[in-house]
Amino acid sequence: MSTVANIELNDGRAIPQLGFGVWQVENDEATKVVGIALETGFRHIDTAKVYENETGVGKALAASSVNREDIWLTTKIWNDDQGYDEALAAFEKSLADLGVDYVDLLLIHWVSAHRKKYVDTWKALIELQKQGKARSIGVSNFPEEHLREIIEATGVTPVVNQIELHPYFNQQALRTVNDELGIKTEAWSPLGQGGELLQDPTITEIAQAHDATPAQVVIAWHLAHGIIVFPKSVTPERIKSNFAATEVKLSDEEIARIDGLSREDGRIGPDPKTADF
Ligand code: NAD
Repeated sequence: MSTVANIELNDGRAIPQLGFGVWQVENDEATKVVGIALETGFRHIDTAKVYENETGVGKALAASSVNREDIWLTTKIWNDDQGYDEALAAFEKSLADLGVDYVDLLLIHWVSAHRKKYVDTWKALIELQKQGKARSIGVSNFPEEHLREIIEATGVTPVVNQIELHPYFNQQALRTVNDELGIKTEAWSPLGQGGELLQDPTITEIAQAHDATPAQVVIAWHLAHGIIVFPKSVTPERIKSNFAATEVKLSDEEIARIDGLSREDGRIGPDPKTADF
């Protein structure tokens, strides 16, 4: 039996540490795979307006026998919707598309610093939390400097910072900053998007030793570090085996070996410090 731990956030709420991501999944498929994920036992779904599948995700929630209050639902404010009024309006659209009256977690998707709107956007999220429509609020793709700026401007610390993080790019420095600020780290592309990482000899060797899959070993590594993680898959067997990764317990030595795989050029996606979209 897979048992997913809860991670306590700085606002007193608790998030299931292992969830299910749906980037690059179209609406119809999202309805199907989120349904399978909920049946498998996942209770945490990570979507975003820009994924253009909030409608499909919402249909799966509505069709599921799992109660809404037992599911942790995250969505995000896209860059074009930054600004106080813009973010409030965009969020209403997300709620309508999802067919829900609140989300568990609302994130600013990217700092998009060149727009100079992230402080106003953060103020909108604070207002939405006051209204009870976003029960917890956080950010994604925020460097240290911008984390400190929104906290200083408002006195409200994000509950999470969702960042690219996998064994080839383990973000030790930013994880330490998040820890110091009382912000939990969420990993995006936790499996390195299923590329070279899952064939890495260190990963496959440890997988063999545990009679586990490489993906399970990588997920177990995130879990061992207290990182919140939501691997994406549209393949039912993989959805199930990814969920079962909670059963894989790595030794300190194995964790250290995987820590050693990180490299300067391991980033797959854009660098939030230079991204201009
Ligand atoms: P991921 O690292 O979760 O990799 C997903 C891919 O890995 C799949 O498409 C598949 O090819 C492969 N895979 C999955 N399970 C496997 C298994 N058991 N065996 C072999 N291969 C397997 O990549 P991701 O989708 O980029 O990241 C996960 C989630 O993070 C997204 O769905 C989304 O919710 C979130 N995300 C957020 C941001 C952001 O900017 N905040 C950016 C990217 C992703």
